[in-house]
Amino acid sequence: MRLLGLLAVGLCLLGAPVLAQPQSAGAPDPRLIEDLVVANRVLADLGVVDGFGHVSVRHDKDPNHYLLARSMAPALVKADDILEFDLDSVPVDAKNRAPYLERFIHGEIYKARPDVKAVVHSHSASVIPFSVSTTRLRPVYHMSSFLGAEVQVFEIRDVVGDGSDLLIRNAALGAALAKALGDQTAVLMRGHGSVVVGTSIPQVVFRAYYTEMNARLQAEAIQLGAAMTYLTPQEAAASAKTNDALVMRPWELWKRKAMKSE
Ligand code: MN
Repeated sequence: MRLLGLLAVGLCLLGAPVLAQPQSAGAPDPRLIEDLVVANRVLADLGVVDGFGHVSVRHDKDPNHYLLARSMAPALVKADDILEFDLDSVPVDAKNRAPYLERFIHGEIYKARPDVKAVVHSHSASVIPFSVSTTRLRPVYHMSSFLGAEVQVFEIRDVVGDGSDLLIRNAALGAALAKALGDQTAVLMRGHGSVVVGTSIPQVVFRAYYTEMNARLQAEAIQLGAAMTYLTPQEAAASAKTNDALVMRPWELWKRKAMKSE
């Protein structure tokens, strides 16, 4: 161990930063893997993700590890595609398969938010207008009350200036995004998509779906052209508490529909 450490320090001095190869936290609860596969299928079924987007869960045996599919379309994910990462987003064993380029979204949010157990990143279309406009995404109905007062927008130019490809392709960008999320449940990424976090897989899927739905409804209501009434922060807090007890109801429905072909 000490020898490996010295080797790592030596290589760093030579200008090659070395991230130690993480050890596995052990086999996760099979139900966690099953739920993660279901979440991938459900999010695809609901149109929150398409060929792009991903969902992860914190490892149940080690809070410093998380589980995320290899780089692939979520609708096609099976249990065997799930990889284990440490919070620097280094795979324990990539099994010669490419990880998602933007996996740092997950690792850095799990680092910054010990309360978060599951993360969804998507490019879902309805939220995009609110990522490029000064009109903020705000809860217009009770199902999206978890959005709180209003959703912040992460501006990648504030971190790296002009000319980026907008992707969260390293830990520094992931950390900046986690900072923009703060203690909230969702953050938009300008011209790119969104991230939603939760304390369980069914809850984060619920939140990802109703974030997309709220964006659609808010845009429709704005088009009516009259004054808007949003949930107050007090209403949002009360309603979010009610809904948190009900996330399993749609989860069971969505699961049955999405897994029908199995
Ligand atoms: Mn993306």
